[in-house]
Amino acid sequence: MDYNALVQLYNDLETTAKRLEKTKILAKFLKNIKEKDIDKVLLLLQGKIFPNWSDKKIGVASRIIVKALHTSTGISVAEIEETWRTKGDLGLVVQSLVGIKKQTTLFSQKLSVSKVFSNLRKLASLEGSGTVDRKIQLLSELLTSSTPDESKYIVRTVLEEMRMGVGEGVLRDAIVWAFFGDKFLDDDDIRDREAYNLYSDAVQSAYDITNDFGEVFKVAMGKDIDALKNMPIRLGKPLKVMLALKVNSASEGFEKVNRPAQIEYKYDGMRMSIHKDNDTVTIFTRRLENVTMQFPEVVDYVRKNVKARTAILDSEAVGFDAKTNKYLAFQNISQRIRRKYGIGQLAKKMPVELNVFDILFYDGKSLINEPFARRRDIIKKIIDEKPKQIVIASSITTSDVEEVDSYFRKSVEAGNEGVMMKNLEAPYKPGGRVGYMVKLKSEQDALDLVIVEAEWGEGKRANMLSSYTLACIDEDGNFLEVGKASTGLKEKEGLTFNELTVRLKELIITEKGKLIKVKPSIVLEVGYEEIQKSPTYSSGYALRFPRIKNIREDRSPDDITTLDEIEHLYFEQKKA
Ligand code: ATP
Repeated sequence: MDYNALVQLYNDLETTAKRLEKTKILAKFLKNIKEKDIDKVLLLLQGKIFPNWSDKKIGVASRIIVKALHTSTGISVAEIEETWRTKGDLGLVVQSLVGIKKQTTLFSQKLSVSKVFSNLRKLASLEGSGTVDRKIQLLSELLTSSTPDESKYIVRTVLEEMRMGVGEGVLRDAIVWAFFGDKFLDDDDIRDREAYNLYSDAVQSAYDITNDFGEVFKVAMGKDIDALKNMPIRLGKPLKVMLALKVNSASEGFEKVNRPAQIEYKYDGMRMSIHKDNDTVTIFTRRLENVTMQFPEVVDYVRKNVKARTAILDSEAVGFDAKTNKYLAFQNISQRIRRKYGIGQLAKKMPVELNVFDILFYDGKSLINEPFARRRDIIKKIIDEKPKQIVIASSITTSDVEEVDSYFRKSVEAGNEGVMMKNLEAPYKPGGRVGYMVKLKSEQDALDLVIVEAEWGEGKRANMLSSYTLACIDEDGNFLEVGKASTGLKEKEGLTFNELTVRLKELIITEKGKLIKVKPSIVLEVGYEEIQKSPTYSSGYALRFPRIKNIREDRSPDDITTLDEIEHLYFEQKKA
């Protein structure tokens, strides 16, 4: 496929902000993709060149793009930077300057999707010093051959700033429309909601298992709904984790999960999905990041104490202080997620204990459709418990509200967040927040919000970005502001103004006076007194007295508090 065909699609998608329109445009396009382009096109549509669970990153800084543009056009770096300052957006800068190329190119050729994709992947495989020139060369090769529009999107892909409004939901719907539209569409409108829901659920569940739209797309082409519902689990490729609904009391919990139920400690740690394929152990976070390298002790515990050739475990890793043996709150071990050096040392200082609470795959077979009680039996059979290394989550089985309450108190006294209540008969639903498990917590929930803007401070904080505009997400993947926070940061590792400043500087999109706009990437856990209606922020809501509690290294920007949740909390507090 010509890269230009994809660029035409990007342009069409940008003409509308309406989700339905985007879905229609995409569905039409997807119907005609050739088999060999499927994987590449579906990743590029998401603004990616690697699946989200890959540990590979493009890793190209803006200044490399500036140099590549200089190489391919002959325009001076100073002139490029001047245009950048006025336009603010490097994609637009490249688009306008590629159009007035000063250097006539001899070998300009038509760009294909494959060529763009392979150059970008090569870029990502280059690491360390001495690779800058090669990166510039790969990029300028693309820019030399590209039209102005093509160059804009190449640059946006490289900077991971596609902003097309093509999130998971739109892509899923477009696949449903493209291959099953005849079952529910009438004149491009959904006439049969029930049929639509059936196919949409099937495509969604296929995606929740594979996290790979390319794979889902190929199965959807065959129009076989059963195949979509029964996508095979692949070891080493993460499934989404099942999430919990929130309840306010044990009796409300029983209404959701039935009696008797299994009640477990709700540990304050980090979710880990662990794939064991003989001696190969792979660890994923809830945002499906591969963190195997960062947790060598977990690899070791699983190899030694899980008696299964192949298995996928769901668990919570809780950190503790190796000196005092005391458990630590999540924020302490969250710094281990991003660690690239001194990993062994940190693992010794702040090891984790793995609390296993579910199993999804065992000796070659999927268990997700088995009842939870049976999955629990298998866990008991195959795990050799070793305290402070790997254990099975503490639990009781009961139908009695008072027993849950006293187990809750016991759990909180032991330093946990509360309890989980789980339906003994339920299957495992990857990605679902469907009430097969519910959480009962001691503290009011904080919000998980992403930083979209930051402001340089004054006085003592003059060189620091010290005030942050925070946003939630709506169902179309738009980030909507809900307030500003500048308090709560403690001067401890990983949570200082300094540390955040360093990280935010790498995410700058535009800078105007004291205010900078950043790529939504850093997720903060934010406490608050009250949610109020507000015309000031784009969400229509504002937080009263927001306090930063923590950085959520385990959350991606598309997995933050939604506008719906904020609305719900607003109405709940009015009721109270
Ligand atoms: P929270 O911020 O309350 O942890 P969340 O939105 O991050 O909520 P939920 O799925 O709503 O995630 O709450 C369940 C989380 O609690 C799980 O993701 C997991 O990390 C953690 N957890 C701790 N102990 C258990 C347990 N025994 N069973 C299941 N999950 C547990």
